[in-house]
Amino acid sequence: MHHFYKKNGSLFCEQLKLDNLAEKYGTPLYVYSANTFREHYNKLNDTLAPLNPMICFAMKANSNLAVLRTLAKEGAGFDIVSGGELFRVLKAGGKAGKCVFAGVGKTDEEIAYALKEGIYAFHVESYPELEQINRVALKLKKVAPIAARVNPNVDADTHHKITTGTYENKFGIPFEEIPAFYAKASRLAGIKLRGVQVHIGSQITSVKPFAAAAKKMLPLVRTLKAKYGIEYFGMGGGLGIVYDPALESGSAAWWNKQKNPPLTPASYAKAIVPILKPLGLKVLLEPGRFISGNAGVLLAEVVHVKKTAKKNFVIVDAAMNDLIRPAFYESYHQIEPLTAKSGKAISSDVVGPICESGDTFCKNRPLPPLKAGDRVAFLSAGAYGFVMSSQYNSRPRAAELLVDGRKVVVARKRETLDDLIRGERAS
Ligand SMILES: *Cc1c(COP(=O)(O)O)cnc(C)c1O
Repeated sequence: MHHFYKKNGSLFCEQLKLDNLAEKYGTPLYVYSANTFREHYNKLNDTLAPLNPMICFAMKANSNLAVLRTLAKEGAGFDIVSGGELFRVLKAGGKAGKCVFAGVGKTDEEIAYALKEGIYAFHVESYPELEQINRVALKLKKVAPIAARVNPNVDADTHHKITTGTYENKFGIPFEEIPAFYAKASRLAGIKLRGVQVHIGSQITSVKPFAAAAKKMLPLVRTLKAKYGIEYFGMGGGLGIVYDPALESGSAAWWNKQKNPPLTPASYAKAIVPILKPLGLKVLLEPGRFISGNAGVLLAEVVHVKKTAKKNFVIVDAAMNDLIRPAFYESYHQIEPLTAKSGKAISSDVVGPICESGDTFCKNRPLPPLKAGDRVAFLSAGAYGFVMSSQYNSRPRAAELLVDGRKVVVARKRETLDDLIRGERAS
C-alpha cells in the first residue's frame, strides 16, 4: 500500500517520475509520498475504530517538518523521545496535547518543557524517573499526566537490536512490579495516572507477539482502570513492513510468505480488537515504521562500476551516512533502477564511497547491468533513513522532497559545505 510504482520501466512517486526529480534536485535524495503517509495513518485509524484509537506517530522514524504537518493535518498525535522532537511537532503545527513522551533518560529541562507545553502523557520507565517528574512538576506547580511503560517480558521475535519487551532490555518497568509502582505514584502530588503502556519491539511482522502482550496485560489494565480511573492503554508501535517483495511466485521464499502473510491493519485489528475492546479504554498506538517506512525512497547515482576477479561493485553516491540501516541492522532494501535497463542480471555489491567495509547496501544481489550515471532507488527508506543520517566523512546531508500528487516541496534543502562547519572555529 504505497504510491511508488513502475510505468514503462520508469519508477514514479505519485504523479512524478523519480528520474526527473533526481535530475532536477541531485542525488543522494530522499523522496516521500504525502498520500502514502495519509493513507497509512487513516487506514490504521479507521480499522481500529472499535478501540477508540489515538495514533501517535513515532516521529523518531521520520521527523521532517513537512511530514509531521501532513500527519498532524490528518489528526495524528506524536510519540516523542526528546525535547527536540516536541520542538519539531510545535514548529510543524502539531499539538502538544496529542504527544506522549517516551525514553529512559529524560532530563529535567525536557520534562519542564513538555509540562509547560501540556503534553498528553509521559511514559515513565523507572522509579527514579517517576520521582524526577514529580519533583519537576511540583516546582512548576503543575500535575504531570503519566503512564508506566510496562516491560511484559514477551519476546517480539525480531532483530536483537530492536527487541525491547524482555527483561534483557533496558526498557520499561517489570510486569510484576506495576501494582506497587501505581500505588506509589498515586500518592505523589505532582503525578496524575492517565494510562498504562507497553512497547515490545520493532519490525514485528507477526501479530502473535502483539496478541500475547495484550492478553498478558489485560487483567492488570482492568485492575488499574478500576483502582485509578486510567483512560488509556498504549500498545506501543513496532508493526512491521515488507522490505523484500522480490519474491518469485512459487519460490521457497514465496511459499514462506503465503504462510506468513504481511501484517496489515486488518490482521492487526483482528488480533487485538477482540482482546482489548472489552476494556472500554482508549487504545493508544505508536507506529513509526508502519506509517513511514514505505512512504519514502532514497535515490542515488552510480559513480563507478568496479569489476574485480570476484565481484561486481556498483559504487553509488549515497552511503551509510545517508542510510545506515544495512550497516547497523543488516537490513534489506530493494534496489531498483529509475529507468528501464535491459540485459542479464549481474550479481552485484552496491556500496557507498565511505572508508568502511560496512558501507555496503547489498552483497551478491542480482541486479540489471548498471553503468556510471545510471540512477537507482533504495525502496522503503522512509523510516529510520534520513533521521539517522550524519555528516560522517564530511559529507553534506541529502535533500528531502515531499511529493503530493504532482506537487513537490523541498522539505529539506541539500546541505552545503558551509553547513559542515557551522558552529566550528579553528582557533
Ligand atoms: C521506536 C519506538 C516506537 C516506534 O517503533 P516502530 O517500530 O517504528 O513502530 C514506538 N514506541 C516507542 C516507545 C519506541 O521507542
